[in-house]
Amino acid sequence: MSQHSQQEFAIIGLGRFGYSLAVALEEHGHTVMAIDKDTKLVQSIVDLVTHAASLDSTQEDALKAIDIGAFDTVIVAIGNDFEANLLTTVNLKALGVRRVICKSQTNRQCDILRRLGADQVIQPEQNSAHRLAEELSTPAIIEHFNLGQGYSVAEIMLPNPLAWKSMGQCDIRNKHHVNILLIKRGDEVLISPRADTILQKDDILIVFGEDLHISQFSNLT
Ligand code: ATP
Repeated sequence: MSQHSQQEFAIIGLGRFGYSLAVALEEHGHTVMAIDKDTKLVQSIVDLVTHAASLDSTQEDALKAIDIGAFDTVIVAIGNDFEANLLTTVNLKALGVRRVICKSQTNRQCDILRRLGADQVIQPEQNSAHRLAEELSTPAIIEHFNLGQGYSVAEIMLPNPLAWKSMGQCDIRNKHHVNILLIKRGDEVLISPRADTILQKDDILIVFGEDLHISQFSNLT
């Protein structure tokens, strides 16, 4: 069960991405309505989500009939048929859906969807490729939370050269342009460590900064 509050999602388009997303959101404790025009696909997910419906989302009336406007967030996961993706997005905004997230295949599609009212546009293949490239390039990063605009919060192993030195001695903020938010040391968590805190081998640091600086800092040798 997710620790976040429960929300109501509708997913339109049950290709590999939409199907997996619908099942994963349901597993996180949310209410999910899975939609596709292909009845066989809808049948295959019916036992895994709260609601499932077979309809053509380019038809505004069909969406109205299931009261799509009542969902907090609707994700349009139609990839190949861009026209259907667009028409669906326009219908959803016309029916008052507050947050519409669309899947797109190219940057150009992304621009068009944003202009037509999509609140967020994702490119799952590109996103996971970037993420994997980042992980492979910076093996010292354990967790990475992208804040956008080139900034992140990351969980990293203490770079070896800093072990047994004080935070003040290392002057991390000025020399490496990252901020240490907290240090995990075994079961202990040191919040807002001070200048006299001695960094220890095997410390795990939660840092904030620009992606490039975090990457350079975590790979210090
Ligand atoms: P993936 O890569 O995630 O498998 P994809 O990007 O190839 O998916 P598509 O195959 O184009 O995406 O579409 C995903 C699903 O969207 C398909 O199952 C298709 O039946 C459904 N779909 C397409 N158009 C509509 C529509 N107008 N209404 C409802 N569902 C639709």
